Amino acid sequence: MVHHRSRAFKPIMLSVRTLLREAFRTKNEVLMMAGTGTGACESAIVNVLSPGETVLCVSAGHFGETWARMARHFGCDVHCLSYMWGKQPDPIELNAKLLETGAKVVTLVHSETSTGAVCDLEALLRVCNKHGAVSIVDAISSVGAVPLETDRWGADVVVGASQKGLMTPPGLGLVSVSERAWAKREQSTMPRFYWDWNELAQFQERNDTPFTAAVPTIVGLETALRLLLDDEGLGAAHRRHSEMGEACRQGVKALGMRVWSPDDPSSAVLTAVEVGDADQFVEHLETRFGVIVAPGHGGLGKTMFRIGHIGYMTPMDIRVVLDAILKSPSRNRRIR
Ligand SMILES: *Cc1c(COP(=O)(O)O)cnc(C)c1O
Repeated sequence: MVHHRSRAFKPIMLSVRTLLREAFRTKNEVLMMAGTGTGACESAIVNVLSPGETVLCVSAGHFGETWARMARHFGCDVHCLSYMWGKQPDPIELNAKLLETGAKVVTLVHSETSTGAVCDLEALLRVCNKHGAVSIVDAISSVGAVPLETDRWGADVVVGASQKGLMTPPGLGLVSVSERAWAKREQSTMPRFYWDWNELAQFQERNDTPFTAAVPTIVGLETALRLLLDDEGLGAAHRRHSEMGEACRQGVKALGMRVWSPDDPSSAVLTAVEVGDADQFVEHLETRFGVIVAPGHGGLGKTMFRIGHIGYMTPMDIRVVLDAILKSPSRNRRIR
């Protein structure tokens, strides 16, 4: 194990910091914290908001609703712009809701992994910026997979994690923080310790970490980011994801099944499919073929499953999944 305070670790930190800025499309520092994506989300709440403060949470699925639950836990005055799961949040309705609530902080989810819908983040951010509201974006399953322009679109806080489009084992939460978000943090009175951005940023500037670093994940992330940014290129990676989505939707429909996730090119991260008995189907694919798909979240758990096509995958992998589905007993499928 490379020791996190040793000289050998510093160049790795420096290189990952540089590569992360490139992946997030920002000139701001991307803070790395040992934890998961949810921990990094919590860091955004406790650094930006204060108890009792109004926050507007835009949700159209499980992860959008998680922002609201989390902010309530920290005593914020939570207002929601809620949609049916899988729907697209509307910038015009966001504008109206910001006028109505006067919220100065907005939470958004770029790729809603519970439904497969990817929102028009650029348009939603334009509205936030018109109101001078600080945006907090869950980009955990979008960074590296679909276009995300942190600086150009004016996103303030962008949260990622190591284990999705960034193709690395779990263990790291990532957060890019704009100048406006740093200024907002100055006024925040929320208690915080482990997730304090200030401490993290001070150490990270010296290629160090305040607590023990997630060394193996950081070392792995350097290699994965080089694959993504140098070997393949971000644009090519986005095209590959979009091709996998297209192949998956076409294949599922050709098998006579119904696509639950949005049937359009934006849905490049995962494909949700309707099924008669999701638990049985998911288990069958794993035990019979070694193909791992996910059941639905919450209330959708029984009637749909999700085929992830994010990260270290190619259209060939989609073929394998489709082949396994084809060879599964049709009583498990819900034929159109
Ligand atoms: C996976 C995911 C999370 C949760 O991340 P963890 O690393 O499991 O804590 C949050 N939001 C979205 C959109 C995700 O895809």
